[in-house]
Amino acid sequence: MSRFTSLLLVLISFSAFGQKKTTSPSDQPLPPIVIGITVDQMRNDYIDRFWNDYCDGGFKRLVRNGSYARNLQYNYMPTYTGPGHAAIFTGTTPAHNGIVANDWFERKYNRMTYCSADSLVNGVGTSSAAGKMSPHYLKSSTIGDELKIFTAGKSKVIGISLKDRGAILPAGRTANAAYWFVGGEEGVWASSSWYMRELPKWVQDFNGNGKAKAYASSTWNLLLPEENYTESIEDNNAYEMPFKPLLRPVFPYNIDTLKKHNGGYEILKGVPMGNSLTLDFAIAAIDGEQLGKNNTTDMLCLSFSSTDYVGHQFGIHSKELQDAYIRLDRELEKLLLELDKRFGKDNYLIFLSSDHGGAPTPSLVQKSNAAAGYWSSDNFEDQAELFMNSKYGQGNWILNESNLNLFINRTLVREKNMKLEDMQRTLAKWAEEQEHVTKAYASCDLTQENYTSELGQKVQLGFLPALSGDVIYVLEPGFMEYSRQGTTHGSPYTYDSQVPFILYGKNVPASTNYAAHSITDIAPTVCSYLRIGFPNACTGNPIISFLRPAKK
Ligand SMILES: [Zn+2]
Repeated sequence: MSRFTSLLLVLISFSAFGQKKTTSPSDQPLPPIVIGITVDQMRNDYIDRFWNDYCDGGFKRLVRNGSYARNLQYNYMPTYTGPGHAAIFTGTTPAHNGIVANDWFERKYNRMTYCSADSLVNGVGTSSAAGKMSPHYLKSSTIGDELKIFTAGKSKVIGISLKDRGAILPAGRTANAAYWFVGGEEGVWASSSWYMRELPKWVQDFNGNGKAKAYASSTWNLLLPEENYTESIEDNNAYEMPFKPLLRPVFPYNIDTLKKHNGGYEILKGVPMGNSLTLDFAIAAIDGEQLGKNNTTDMLCLSFSSTDYVGHQFGIHSKELQDAYIRLDRELEKLLLELDKRFGKDNYLIFLSSDHGGAPTPSLVQKSNAAAGYWSSDNFEDQAELFMNSKYGQGNWILNESNLNLFINRTLVREKNMKLEDMQRTLAKWAEEQEHVTKAYASCDLTQENYTSELGQKVQLGFLPALSGDVIYVLEPGFMEYSRQGTTHGSPYTYDSQVPFILYGKNVPASTNYAAHSITDIAPTVCSYLRIGFPNACTGNPIISFLRPAKK
């Protein structure tokens, strides 16, 4: 071998070695920061319905350059805010993460409790009860918890949302902080003693910067000329709930005037300016905590809540809702530009999804002959009590009805030496015979059987024997318990269960995916990208097409 050949071989082996290093997936540098965005009450079809009104730098930038799953569904019920936020970030369902509803009935104390309420902690930055919140009910780990395990606690994980549960549940139990907005007279971002003793200086500074006051003194008008809002019905109609004390649900809304009648600073949750304030605070958090500047991957869980309040009050058909999304789109553009500035273009990972969708307003769609309507759980509970009395003798048999769960008085069952399982099945059978009830399940069957039907599985994955009722029932599609103005969510049907999932960042292929995916697939997809462990009770699978290295 000549000296030249051996030199060449050495060069080839060096370059081959070098090449191996740069093409192996494990050598791709991890992003300095991950932002997990939850848009509260975002139906997947809002991407398409309002597409022409979006700017190039917000939703369009994410969809065009990222991976987008168009058919991702919640695989359990109830589709509420607390369970939804928990499912996205734990990669599992209420059956494992413990968040079975926003509020649920506690048999032991015979009272309702709230998914992030914690009487053992104190508010930090607020003296109101709104501060006594923590993730203590959360039973499984989140993406952020796993990131911390992977980096020996070096990663910072922070949750931010106007709603406490929207900040607390995504960030997880070991998070550095969660911050939420306290309305009323305070109008401040606060936390609790679960995380800290006092607010960091940057939070105190933010609370003193007058931004909440400025937004609460502004006017909400349509962002674009009115002729752009062809995807919505006329502004003045009978299917929307006007702000107090207004008689009509019409633009413009003078927030300063409405503030007095709508809980002071609480009003900011119900207008798009609440999302603007959330973004301002998130950017202050990135700078204040030096997120992404610590030689490791940090995580910000960011939830935009105003869209949910607007959806509830005005419904999915309203100009108010459309405008809230057009404005959120501009906030997303701003966020991406701020991230570009700090970390370099696309040198970060973003994922976006929603905690649930929203139903068409029944009173409106009924006029076009759609099958839809209203449900009274009080009436149903009374009827159930009458049935139990006729069947088992006089007694206070039904302790509680909440979240379509009926709770039987088990103390009375024991006293009378009756068989609980038989009573559960009898009550479930009775429930199924009632008008507008599609199906009802006895707790004993949910514990013992393995349901394979779509609906049975959704009920089972949202069920925990210790927290759920004795009978769980499901209404027909289009039916809800709500006022005749505005709308809600919670059902297992696609209008509530189908949400977008977008992953955006370096080496995420630009693709749109029509295959069926589950909400529990988000966390394992994100964790696979980051090459960290999955949340400990994760039941989903990574979406493979989101993870292929991009071709250069
Ligand atoms: Zn809601």
